[in-house]
Amino acid sequence: MKKKVYISGAIAHYGMDERRATFEAAALRLKEQGFEPVNPFENGVPADAHWMAHMKADIALLVGCDYIYMLNGWELSKGAKLEFDVASSCGIKVMFEGQKSSREYVCCICGEIHSGYGHNPHPVKHGGECCPECNKQVVSMRAQLAKGE
Ligand SMILES: [Zn+2]
Repeated sequence: MKKKVYISGAIAHYGMDERRATFEAAALRLKEQGFEPVNPFENGVPADAHWMAHMKADIALLVGCDYIYMLNGWELSKGAKLEFDVASSCGIKVMFEGQKSSREYVCCICGEIHSGYGHNPHPVKHGGECCPECNKQVVSMRAQLAKGE
């Protein structure tokens, strides 16, 4: 199962279109890294609804996630700060945009998070990256295939 990541950041202090694009770009990046992004722009609440209605829907989404991803400038946002506190209190792991010491990926075989670059999982999986531990399995399957078993 893919790890769900809630994207959190300031919305009110920027133009709506710019924010939407920023959240979508973050979602795309997280998807490429093997996560399942949860974008609060898709919380099902009308954009012009009350702040509290958004907060209620957003927190519900957040608590269903394994990670929270804090976009740059999140400190400016009351909502993002609240989400950060909720995440910390619930044991949801926090990631910060641009503050990763190294690249991270989700192993497409065991589903764990690893840093650095993964291995090509073919022929166990098609696409994605796998960790060094799971790569052993991949290597032995390749050897078997090479022997024609
Ligand atoms: Zn693995």
